[in-house]
Amino acid sequence: MKPRLAFKVVLAGLAFLALSSRVAIAESPIDCVELGCSAVLPDAKRFETIDDNLFATGFDASDRVVGWAARSTDIVDIKAYSGKPLVTLVGISPKGIISGAKLLEHGEPILLVGIPESKLHDFIAYYVDLHATSRVVVGHSSDPEAIEVDMISGATVTALAQNQTILKTARTVGMATGAVSVAEMSPGKFIVEDRPWTWDEMAQAGTFGRLTVTEEELGIKNSEGILVDLFYTIADAPHIGRGLLGDLTYEHQMKKLEAGEHLFVVFGNGSGSFKGSAFVRGGIFDRVRFAQGLTDLTFRDTDYTNITINADGAPYFKEAAVFVSRGAQIDPGQKYELLFLGSRYTGAYEREFIEFKSSHKLPRSIYRAEKSNLDEPIYVQAWRNRMMDVWLLLGYLALVLGVFIFRRYSTRTLKWLMRIHVALMAVGFVLIGLHMHAQPSVTQVLTLIGTAVGSMDWQLFLVAPLIFILWIFIAVVSLIWGRGVFCGWVCPYGSMTELLNKIAIKLKVPQKELPKRLTYLRYVVLVVLGGVFLWDAALGEVMAEVEPFKSTFLVVPWERNWGFFGWWLFLFAASIFMWRPFCRFLCPLGAALAIFGSFRFSGPRRRNFCSSCKICTKTCEPHAFRKDGTIDPRECFSCMECEAVYRNDDKCPPLITIKKIESNPSPKEHDLVQLKKMKDARKDV
Ligand code: SF4
Ligand code: SF4
Repeated sequence: MKPRLAFKVVLAGLAFLALSSRVAIAESPIDCVELGCSAVLPDAKRFETIDDNLFATGFDASDRVVGWAARSTDIVDIKAYSGKPLVTLVGISPKGIISGAKLLEHGEPILLVGIPESKLHDFIAYYVDLHATSRVVVGHSSDPEAIEVDMISGATVTALAQNQTILKTARTVGMATGAVSVAEMSPGKFIVEDRPWTWDEMAQAGTFGRLTVTEEELGIKNSEGILVDLFYTIADAPHIGRGLLGDLTYEHQMKKLEAGEHLFVVFGNGSGSFKGSAFVRGGIFDRVRFAQGLTDLTFRDTDYTNITINADGAPYFKEAAVFVSRGAQIDPGQKYELLFLGSRYTGAYEREFIEFKSSHKLPRSIYRAEKSNLDEPIYVQAWRNRMMDVWLLLGYLALVLGVFIFRRYSTRTLKWLMRIHVALMAVGFVLIGLHMHAQPSVTQVLTLIGTAVGSMDWQLFLVAPLIFILWIFIAVVSLIWGRGVFCGWVCPYGSMTELLNKIAIKLKVPQKELPKRLTYLRYVVLVVLGGVFLWDAALGEVMAEVEPFKSTFLVVPWERNWGFFGWWLFLFAASIFMWRPFCRFLCPLGAALAIFGSFRFSGPRRRNFCSSCKICTKTCEPHAFRKDGTIDPRECFSCMECEAVYRNDDKCPPLITIKKIESNPSPKEHDLVQLKKMKDARKDV
């Protein structure tokens, strides 16, 4: 397999994954018969979708509302490890209790083949009967008020994404229906400053959202006029409210507010008016409304007061109004929208309506929201949860790097080098493999790059901190010293098989060897696997079981189906009779790294006379030496034993000869000629 072709196959795979992995957000209204909503709202006898809501309302036998059911992808956009959402049906009662949750669909590779899906179902079951505003923490928390939910071992990111999916869906629906109090869910407070702000201070602090609509945007041809140029904000904070409305009006309006209600101020200029025709009839304002998530705020004439903008230095505004939000709740700490409905006559009695919108978020100088753990990106939670392991891994990798950076010291004797090597392999196997479950795999990189490119969400690279660090390490060290630093020292599976083989040799188990040309097989495995991923990523996940990593570190091998268990057992047994059979002949990750590491800057040290000596070639386990005595970087596992011999004048024959001649007090003439030749040849190649 030529390296270039392999690269092309991998790149084609990434492009395919990029196209195929876009998040599917459902657009159709929720169909409770098809989705089985009663599973998440058991008290409901029938479901109805009211007013084009994205969730369904459940009624009991006497037509009382008993709650709501929603499909998560209609409400929130949260990606899991695969870059796709965990499509979950969530039920919530009028008291804000999560009445049920059911996983409908997912693309998590580890749950497709590996960890049983039942673990995720068990995880979801924790949420039933919790209040939607509960502070749920996946893993351990130092907060005594938090409800701890057990992590799914080996599927941390999936668990974090599932937590956000259920709670955010329940909270958003709860907020829109009034089942959940916004103040309870997103605690925060308006900043209190006694001195009213001037217009300039307000403008500089980002107090206002602004929506400008031209007449041309409304479809009035050849017009350069501005239809409306609107400023808007939430004016509960005294330095804003007093500044805009004046003391008296502000105090009067604030007295009207019930818990959870706010003052919305809109003002502006333009040829049009934001008040609308329905206002004249004494009904609902049909031209402006506010929205946040699923919540829509419309105003009646009783919620409205005409005002003049009073702030010091404010320009003239043609119209200005303050609205009091009634009923539905808005979180002032989150982004909210102003929607303006413009209309124009297209015939004697026909009008065309166009909606324009703009969004705004109050700055922290006006409203300070307390951070909810659900607002934190999943990758931040993942890093915090694994901070201890991150430090342990960094410490371990620093030790491995130290071996290569201070190679003169680490290779000073063969025995010393071998001890360090065995110790680091054992620690890597236990720490990275058994404890952290962080075995790198070729499928991770295909899946991760594909989904991140497809969704342009580079945060996906960060959601698995240990794998992220390992891949950075692999890329850097493979480029400098070749694939052997990772394969020969860090890879938990490779370390396990080498240690197993060392024990077998100590126990005098006879060793076998396969023809070297079979090493090309691993490139075939890489290409076939890449091709299957192109064809069907889910099938690719099954085929990726050629890597026995999941069976070794994630799932108990004998609890898996007999095919996976048999394969794992076969490779395990083969490692007793052969030095790293999987690594040398089959591993697709090893093949990819070998291609990448072909261009390494620095390999084990060699001298000119090494090509004629060849003593190192006999002990090199992966048979990485070519016939001319040079090293094939694709086969070298960087054990550095040849470099330890290279430095040792008791082991390296030419060095022994040099030492012997130099220690002879009366060397012969031809010895001195030979000494000169050998010293000349001693320079590194
Ligand atoms: S060849 Fe594969 S299994 Fe072996 S050490 Fe390298 S990555 Fe690990
Ligand atoms: S002995 Fe072989 S595997 Fe080890 S460093 Fe030398 S060439 Fe590489």
